[in-house]
Amino acid sequence: MERDTMEPGFDVPALPGMAEAEIQTPCLLIDHDAMMRNIDLMQARADEMGVGLRVHVKTHKSADIARRQIAAGACGICCQKVSEAEVFVRAGFGDVLVSNQVCDRAKIARLARLPLSGARVIVCVDDAANVKALSQAAVQAGSALEVLVEMDCGGGRCGVAPGAAVVTLARQIAEAPGLRFAGVQAYHGGAQHIYDRAAREAELGASHRKLRETLEELREAGLDCAIVGGAGTGSWDIEGASGLYTEMQCGSYVLMDADYARVQSIAGENGGGFEHALFVLSGVMSHVRPDHAVCDAGLKSMSADSGMPTVFGLPDVVYRRYSDEHGELDDPSGRLALNDRVRLVPGHVDPTCNLHDWFVVVRDGRVTDLWPVSARGRLW
Ligand SMILES: *Cc1c(COP(=O)(O)O)cnc(C)c1O
Repeated sequence: MERDTMEPGFDVPALPGMAEAEIQTPCLLIDHDAMMRNIDLMQARADEMGVGLRVHVKTHKSADIARRQIAAGACGICCQKVSEAEVFVRAGFGDVLVSNQVCDRAKIARLARLPLSGARVIVCVDDAANVKALSQAAVQAGSALEVLVEMDCGGGRCGVAPGAAVVTLARQIAEAPGLRFAGVQAYHGGAQHIYDRAAREAELGASHRKLRETLEELREAGLDCAIVGGAGTGSWDIEGASGLYTEMQCGSYVLMDADYARVQSIAGENGGGFEHALFVLSGVMSHVRPDHAVCDAGLKSMSADSGMPTVFGLPDVVYRRYSDEHGELDDPSGRLALNDRVRLVPGHVDPTCNLHDWFVVVRDGRVTDLWPVSARGRLW
């Protein structure tokens, strides 16, 4: 970042060296040291369990954060979209799983060209015609794609049913020119947000029984799974310990959000070790009534699909209501004054990051870096 050529408030919300009180709001704030502790903690747990960690970058869409995750020992990255994968391959990431189906002709052609730069590219399928289209595109591009069969773990979204359907599709992939059968993706997204630990274990246990049988059928058919992938921030410990997975695809743990803080045994305040490292920094812009403050972060600064943000470090201040550019706060003990900054913990980290151009990185109360949200808006 060239300090001379950037103006805070015009091009960027902050510059390196600034105190937190000078940062222009609302903006995304990263607590650098908390983020690094999250990175090291997840990597240490994955290493202890002997399971790979392929971090999901759809959370932050940031090459700067992903580089730190890889440096700590992650075996690769997951992207959700071809356009995201293009950004990360161009940034030098060499092992990329698009943990999704890619079905449009032009998207398939772009995907098939990605390995030409030397990257390993893996994609998920749940449809025989899609296997054929991927195969033709890889042959045409003169490249090779690795392919995982996505198994429906009980969420009922994408993926074929466990058992015979997985084996049939796996065989088609293994026989298709330009493709290599690489294994199975068994990701149960919904189970991660079951707050109660016992209920979450029960739901994942049911999924694991089906996965175990399916992996046995694949083995009997002579189809080798180099990758059995799945798991995320709400399920890593249970799935990692199941002995079934070779790679975990955790994303949100690196920054955390208010919803994952409610899931038992994940966040520090709820029996786990992960800390809030991402905040929407917001300024108080109106405080006409003594028990009611208004801050400058609303729907355009953070997503609200997983509920209201929490106010970090001020437990009696409650973010009550949002509109586009305002957030209304209950301030029963009159803690806030005009121009105070509050650190809001967004309900859901992924769609919040996608609303911003920059992460303002803070260490010991000072801005140390500005990182672009590298794949912001890359949804195609
Ligand atoms: C989102 C996602 C993840 C990561 O989930 P988190 O809850 O953010 O850790 C992993 N795998 C797949 C396929 C996903 O879509």
